Amino acid sequence: MENNGNVQETVKPDVDGNVQEAEKPSENKKPQHNNQNRNNNNQNRNNNNKNNNSSKPNQNRNKGGGRGRRRQSTPVDENLKKFVAINAEAHKQRLNPHYKLDLNSKAKIRITPLGGLGEIGGNITVFETENEAILIDVGMSFPDEDMHGVDILVPDFTYIREIKDKIKAVIITHSHEDHIGAMPYLFKEMQFPIYASPLPLAMIGNKFDEHHIKEARRHFNPVVKRKIYEIGNDFKVEWMHMTHSIIDSSSLAITTDAGTVIHTGDFKIDHSPVDGYTADLHRLAYYGEKGVLALLSDSTNSYNPLPTPSELTVAPAMDRVFAKAEGRVIMSTFSSNIHRVQQAIQYGVKYGRKICVIGRSMERNIEIAMQYDYVKFPKSIFIEPDQIAHMSDKDVLIVTTGSQGEPSSALFRMSIGEHRHVKIKPTDLIVLSSRAIPGNEGSISGMLNHLQRAGATISREKDIHVSGHASIPEQKLMIRLVNPKFFLPVHGEYNHVMAHKETGMMCGVPERNIHIMNDGDTIEVAPKYMRKVKSVRTGKTYIDNQNNHKIDDDIVIDRQKLASDGIVMIVAQIDGQHSKMLSKPVVTTFGLVADKQDKYFAKEMEDVLEHFLINIKEGLVENTRALENDLRQVVRKHIYRKMKKYPLIVPTVFVQ
Ligand SMILES: [Zn+2]
Repeated sequence: MENNGNVQETVKPDVDGNVQEAEKPSENKKPQHNNQNRNNNNQNRNNNNKNNNSSKPNQNRNKGGGRGRRRQSTPVDENLKKFVAINAEAHKQRLNPHYKLDLNSKAKIRITPLGGLGEIGGNITVFETENEAILIDVGMSFPDEDMHGVDILVPDFTYIREIKDKIKAVIITHSHEDHIGAMPYLFKEMQFPIYASPLPLAMIGNKFDEHHIKEARRHFNPVVKRKIYEIGNDFKVEWMHMTHSIIDSSSLAITTDAGTVIHTGDFKIDHSPVDGYTADLHRLAYYGEKGVLALLSDSTNSYNPLPTPSELTVAPAMDRVFAKAEGRVIMSTFSSNIHRVQQAIQYGVKYGRKICVIGRSMERNIEIAMQYDYVKFPKSIFIEPDQIAHMSDKDVLIVTTGSQGEPSSALFRMSIGEHRHVKIKPTDLIVLSSRAIPGNEGSISGMLNHLQRAGATISREKDIHVSGHASIPEQKLMIRLVNPKFFLPVHGEYNHVMAHKETGMMCGVPERNIHIMNDGDTIEVAPKYMRKVKSVRTGKTYIDNQNNHKIDDDIVIDRQKLASDGIVMIVAQIDGQHSKMLSKPVVTTFGLVADKQDKYFAKEMEDVLEHFLINIKEGLVENTRALENDLRQVVRKHIYRKMKKYPLIVPTVFVQ
């Protein structure tokens, strides 16, 4: 039992000296890190106590256990014991980010997400010092099904307008739509220097051209990874290469007087990426060693316990699928996943096929990737869509958009026989190399029905797609490399972020050093504390893609009412002097009552109107607008009572 006592004594400083107690000893109960160590100790004790057949090692020790047996204890080498303690101290210093920060600093940084939390997409975050600010990413998101006629959502820029003069730059992590898609909408209103690696800038440039703000390209500042850029007086930013489902992605190290904050952007850790450019783990570790104030990390896949496979792992599946194809192969994936497209093209070429790229975003992205030498293919392997008809089916690979079943996409149009150059044949093999984005399952299934009706074979094997986001093991690696004092899980719905919080605690971040942010929360972070200081306005602006114009909120609300509850129009003529109807009102409804009940409903409305006129407030008839408003209220109440519906009500009253 003396040995047990020794184990307990030597490990104890490690336990006590950890992250939490350095700051507030009283709260040293919750943190996982300590618990983990304690568990280990318990395990040790249990093991050592096995011979005693004791299930309660603590009690045993307290009572001076080991009574049942005498044995000679091994002499303790005091010098060795000293080194155990010294090592424990070294671990404490190594593991505790608290000791690595400048605790005398009064500096602080404020972090405000304006989108991207409680939702997938629409990422935009403000980093602010006393006098300056930077924006990290300016992304868009997609509407819910009930936002009729809305194509995309752009974050509400109210807060950005408020602090416009403080903003020194827009910083971009990578070129997915949910990180750059709202750039043209922001830049039509206000412009700032844009810092990003080349591919995001090329993609943003295309957007600016489409939106007729070519001149905004003058704000481009291409960056070199691993170089530190001074932005304004307060910010130093380094782009660190990251692997993700789009090439040229980055994590950011943002250093201010308060310390360094690491923002991962979207990431997975791919040790064998297609282009060989692995995630820059060395730089992350460098900052981790130096001391990191806070980590903001991607939560998208925080439920997945298995590591996300490398992009390269889709190659064998592609080879298998392409090898057995007898007719044309039509491959669809996210057009931004250049490495996926590149691999498909390689296997197409391997099996002697020519490549036809169809779909606007696919054509544009491959063009950019080739123009800027991210991928290299001889021009001779490509054919135009009108050449397909003149070639043998076995010689054709079509790479196209539509993996989400979008009705305007090339693959969808092929599936319903409306594509100009490609009609689906029974010998066609359709390869869907993607997963369904939540909400798109219905449209994908619909498209698959059409494709199969046309006789095509569908291949959507699991191993022909891999995710671009970190699973739990990679999230753990990120936390351990960066070793932050404070942890802010980002990118994802509430439940994703909460799962990521658990992972953070498992990796030694005390619970009170983790904050679950909501859009609009301003979090102040300083070496000694992190707290929410205020909330700012957030929301979404609705955009109609046909003309790139904003749709006002009330229009969308009206459309929702029309779609779910219909419309009632009431036209009435009133004798102003006697508050009486001059004739029967004309009542028209759409989407509320069935045609055969129209007459009955019209009579009901007539009664409501009559009753309304009998009880009318004095003077109301002189003000037609107020009269119509009041009438609308009365009708609304009546319809809700009887039908539990809120239709759009349009009263028109003529007073004579
Ligand atoms: Zn992304």
